[in-house]
Amino acid sequence: MKLNFATNNKHKLQEVREVLGDSFLVESLQSLGINEDIPEDQQTLEGNAMQKARFLYDRTGEDCFADDTGLEVEALNGAPGVYSARYAGESKNSLDNMALLLKNMEGVKNRKARFRTVIALILNGEGYLFEGVVNGVITEQPRGAAGFGYDPLFVPDGYTTTFAEMDSEAKNAISHRGLAVEKLAAFLLKR
Ligand code: IMP
Repeated sequence: MKLNFATNNKHKLQEVREVLGDSFLVESLQSLGINEDIPEDQQTLEGNAMQKARFLYDRTGEDCFADDTGLEVEALNGAPGVYSARYAGESKNSLDNMALLLKNMEGVKNRKARFRTVIALILNGEGYLFEGVVNGVITEQPRGAAGFGYDPLFVPDGYTTTFAEMDSEAKNAISHRGLAVEKLAAFLLKR
């Protein structure tokens, strides 16, 4: 089955392709030749995911999906949450975002956090949502070079390594995105 994914993030694309496996041919914005910036100005992950998916569906008329992810830190009342990408400013720089997060967590004992991914699917014009959550803690310093975004700062519960110290197979097996994509795949394979 061919599915268009409203992303140009090569890390997300690789993770999603790995989890979906050979039954799905996943196209990205780049492979579809769509170069526009997709608007992402909603107040929730659900709203943003659906906004991105609708945008792509309107361009192609083909089945598609989008994901939106937030890092929700308990001691920061759920921040950066839906604003995770631009936490440290519009340049959406991961190093700046991590530095700001560590600064805002200085001296904070409660390091509990969770990653939450929402996937919005448009299938035959109808919208569906799938959620994946992973709980963990924020480290005192970045560790590891794999993955992307806030991965060097996040240790999932039950582990001692950050996501950036795991290979993509290990991350996908327990991650927010891995879990959301598995729900998406189960839904599609049932139909
Ligand atoms: P978005 O879903 O692309 O809007 O991502 C929001 C922010 O979370 C961006 O700063 C991403 O780099 C970051 N992010 C998204 N997914 C992950 C992940 O799997 N690990 C670490 N950071 C992520």
